[in-house]
Amino acid sequence: MSRFWSDLTHQLKPYTPGEQPRMADLVKLNTNESPTGPSPKAMAAIAAEAADTLRLYPDPEARALRETLARYHGVAPEQVFVGNGSDEVLAHAFAALLKHEAPLLFPDITYSFYPVYCRLFGVAYETVPLDGAMAVRIEDYRRPAGAIILPNPNAPTGVALSRAQIRQLLDEHPEAPVVIDEAYVDFGAQTAIPLVAEHPNLLVVQTMSKSRALAGLRVGYAIGDAALIEGLTRVKDSFNSYPLGRPAQAGAIASIEDEAFFQASREAVIAERGRLTAGLEARGFTASPSSANFVFARHGSRGGADLAAALRERAVIVRHFAAPRTADHLRITVGTPAQTDRLLEALDEVLGGGPG
Ligand SMILES: *Cc1c(COP(=O)(O)O)cnc(C)c1O
Repeated sequence: MSRFWSDLTHQLKPYTPGEQPRMADLVKLNTNESPTGPSPKAMAAIAAEAADTLRLYPDPEARALRETLARYHGVAPEQVFVGNGSDEVLAHAFAALLKHEAPLLFPDITYSFYPVYCRLFGVAYETVPLDGAMAVRIEDYRRPAGAIILPNPNAPTGVALSRAQIRQLLDEHPEAPVVIDEAYVDFGAQTAIPLVAEHPNLLVVQTMSKSRALAGLRVGYAIGDAALIEGLTRVKDSFNSYPLGRPAQAGAIASIEDEAFFQASREAVIAERGRLTAGLEARGFTASPSSANFVFARHGSRGGADLAAALRERAVIVRHFAAPRTADHLRITVGTPAQTDRLLEALDEVLGGGPG
């Protein structure tokens, strides 16, 4: 605290990122990072940017990257916005599109950054409870809405809506901007991008942090009607004209162009998710059906905080969210097969005995 802080700074409730501990031989399954590295072609493209050209500012419009993304997703470059991680893209969306007189709606259990942005930008919001199966019910959004934001698959539950359900939500709210945060869509959900053509109120946000193993590069993007993108660009150019450096732009392009590597890595995560889920269920956990690179699971008799602490003593870090409806659960990132084995062995020690 300081008397030099502004009122706004006093009122903020900042997001707490998952920890990045420095422990030896750690099994780190708490922030949904990729267990394998990025595309070697992306790494080579990033390395090639360590050159004299770094004295020059990067392209403020990131044209080459936006053209690559537009081709990949079958839209026009004017329908693509890029930013310094999708968190920045989301922040610009809150400022540009989600602040209205009627409240912004999002689920009660969801990405915990949303209420943080609401405070920063003074956005009124209401949360809509997930149903008993921890799923979003589109029918529950039939109420006055200035705008709507949903992750699909949802975080931290991993539960996905179908494209038909997203279409229903859009059809029921033609006057409200709707942001679909698809941070985990590549692990088994349907993207809403094909709906952009018919729905000028839809913004789809994706990231290179999870399925493309580039969390450290900070590249996220949004796809929507050109007029929505123009709104985001107005906010971005009122904040930072150069959110993506040269290495980030080049690495992101090379990653998108390496389709074979991308497909192989997402398939490996999906396969390992099945093994992790089965291993947890054999040890008394109930897991929500996951379309993401993590599993949200609850043990029959042991609390989430207790289990997370016991795993931590065995150098296995998972995520626990202390809120009332999530306190029983753990969110466990899908790691390598060796990391899954370490986690399951640690659970056997903690729970006393092998799979039942
Ligand atoms: C990880 C995550 C993001 C942010 O990712 P960036 O690394 O900032 O691109 C956004 N939304 C959800 C739901 C996430 O889990």
